[in-house]
Amino acid sequence: MLVNAYGAHAGDQPLEPLQITRRAPGAHDVQIDIAFCGICHSDLHQVRAEWHGTQFPCVPGHEIVGRVAAVGTHVDGFRPGDLVGIGCIVDSCKHCADCDDGLENYCDGMIGTYNFPTPDAPGWTQGGYSQQIVVHERYVLRIRHPEEQLAAVAPLLCAGITTYSPLRHWQVGPGKKVGVVGIGGLGHMGIKLAHALGAHVVAFTTSDSKREAALQLGADEVVVSRNAEEMAAHAKSFDLILNTVAAPHDLDAFLVLLKRDGNMTLVGAPATPHASPNVFNLIMKRRTLAGSMIGGIAETQEMLDFCAEHGIVSDIELVRADQINESYERMLKGDVKYRFVIDNATLAG
Ligand code: NAP
Ligand code: ZN
Repeated sequence: MLVNAYGAHAGDQPLEPLQITRRAPGAHDVQIDIAFCGICHSDLHQVRAEWHGTQFPCVPGHEIVGRVAAVGTHVDGFRPGDLVGIGCIVDSCKHCADCDDGLENYCDGMIGTYNFPTPDAPGWTQGGYSQQIVVHERYVLRIRHPEEQLAAVAPLLCAGITTYSPLRHWQVGPGKKVGVVGIGGLGHMGIKLAHALGAHVVAFTTSDSKREAALQLGADEVVVSRNAEEMAAHAKSFDLILNTVAAPHDLDAFLVLLKRDGNMTLVGAPATPHASPNVFNLIMKRRTLAGSMIGGIAETQEMLDFCAEHGIVSDIELVRADQINESYERMLKGDVKYRFVIDNATLAG
């Protein structure tokens, strides 16, 4: 089945309308009419071939929400009309230790929502900047937010789970001091979620103009990271710093803010490496530096349910498909509060 989509034919070309094929739903598949899809900074990295191995044409998008259109004969959990989401994972090996633990995100056979091998034409997966997607039921998430919030739920499928998973892994809760570095799509969700989990939240931004907004999002304090005095006031005080920055920067400036046994987790994935941290900043206080990649399916459902219960959604700016290229430019300038979401109805006709 041919559906309308938006994608790029090469890393140095803008995205444009194109058509892609979706398979007919198999016995365990769910066919979804996509209503909205968030624009993640990873989409930009991938479609501009900043990370290696982009296959073209590339249709990005892994913050997908919509309604079930049809289900395969063996699908019990979903029915046509259900509100559902698809995040960054559309398949995995289903039998390794990671899959058994519900951590499909760490399965060596994980298939991402776009740019991963698939038997479907053209040989690699195509994402949510499209009218429909067909996915095995195991990777379909249930949305329990009110339908009016559907567009603002889309970014939870990547920005939400990518920040929720490390916050839970490092046991963030009341009594913990948590820093969130970079107030973009991921960072603004990190602030909301850490606040809802009961932590004392400090937002770090390079943009003085985001100071007030960060407090509105739920930060208890805001630090403009270019200001050495403001930074020094928080020396050796954090349990966890969640770093979402999409560009190489000085990691040591944040490591020294961790207390003994504190951890900084990197989720930002810049195209070029950071300068190595000074190991003495790790050794001296037994600090650790970690990474984290999205989250498993069960944890993504847990996060969606947590957000529905606490009334948490993303702060979004809804755009038409023909505004995607402009949205990328604005995202690079930090000119977005805090996530662009595509209205996929604008892909019709
Ligand atoms: P985004 O909306 O563009 O936000 C990134 C934020 O980082 C910006 O708003 C800005 O915040 C800050 N920043 C940007 N350039 C900077 C620089 N040169 N120095 C210091 N701060 C800078 O991007 P996003 O969608 O949140 O994604 C962030 C990163 O996470 C990307 O690299 C993306 O690929 C990656 N990612 C990783 C995972 C994972 O599983 N680990 C999942 C999704 C995305 P301020 O204006 O507040 O400084
Ligand atoms: Zn993403």
